[in-house]
Amino acid sequence: MIKYKKVSREIAQKPRKCDGATLKCDKTIFRRVKNMEKVYIGIDFGGTSVKGGIVTADGKILYKSSVPTDAKEGVKKVISNIVKLIRDLEAHNANGEIQGIGIGIPGLIDAESGVVVVAGNLYWSDVHIVDELHKHFDYPIKITNDANAAALGEAKFGSGKSYKTSVFVTLGTGIGGGIIIDGKLYEGNKSAGGEIGHMIIHPHGEQCTCGNKGCWETYGSATAIIRETRRAMQAHKDSEMWKVGGLENVDGKTAFDYADVDEYAKQVVDEYIDNLAVGLINIANIFRPEVIIIGGGVANQGDSLILPLREQVKGGLFARSSGPSVGIIFASLKSAGIVGAAALNM
Ligand SMILES: [Zn+2]
Repeated sequence: MIKYKKVSREIAQKPRKCDGATLKCDKTIFRRVKNMEKVYIGIDFGGTSVKGGIVTADGKILYKSSVPTDAKEGVKKVISNIVKLIRDLEAHNANGEIQGIGIGIPGLIDAESGVVVVAGNLYWSDVHIVDELHKHFDYPIKITNDANAAALGEAKFGSGKSYKTSVFVTLGTGIGGGIIIDGKLYEGNKSAGGEIGHMIIHPHGEQCTCGNKGCWETYGSATAIIRETRRAMQAHKDSEMWKVGGLENVDGKTAFDYADVDEYAKQVVDEYIDNLAVGLINIANIFRPEVIIIGGGVANQGDSLILPLREQVKGGLFARSSGPSVGIIFASLKSAGIVGAAALNM
């Protein structure tokens, strides 16, 4: 940024014709000023790698790169990896004036003070990441939770871009999500809210990693359907699902793959969808968003997932069809985390 600011100031101060002025010289300067578009750095922080990109104001990624996280080597090492990543992004920034750095981090974040309060996957607690990065960079730096970043990305540039109010739900190891109200992230007090995966849907249900029981993610995540698939196989030695070779070969697709030919697989899928629908209906009735956007690995199940979910959510809406509908749609971006993090400074 500094480099480009200096350039632009020099240009601004220069007389209309530079030394030994020619028309060509003027044109060159004009072209340089005109081509300097605003760009934004977006960083998507994961347990194994940190990905980053140079993003335009309309959500296009001009350049993308990544570094290993090296979380086990401690906070200093991780930060030095991120610094390297940002330096690389800067070096590949051809024509843009960098407006800021946005970072999505898996964990509990205090966005306002720029602190990672706790991030289990990274072994971090109370890390002042914004202060640390400001030792190296002068840009504005903003952080949010990784699911919130993805939610913002989908809302601004993906499936949610035609809607002002949306909720993003990602079905992976757990259930992550982000709430967008009137185009803005809603994060709750000290950005500790929006943990939709931890809404309790069964009071004495499955133990959740958060300490509570019966959280939505213990029934609706990929981890949950894998657990239930294995349980069904163990209970029914005649299940067709044993054709996968063994319990260790079960993944989030197994029950869906056998649902047409195996009643136990169908039961697993039906119950999984029922539990997912309960959470979606709760979200729909609390926020009444225009759409709920579904992402994550399980979303690859396509129609066999989304059609019954649409049906159930429609049936569970408060005031039924007298109120506005809530669309259930799939996420559409490959790098929602990067563009969403970049969008924190837009
Ligand atoms: Zn929980």
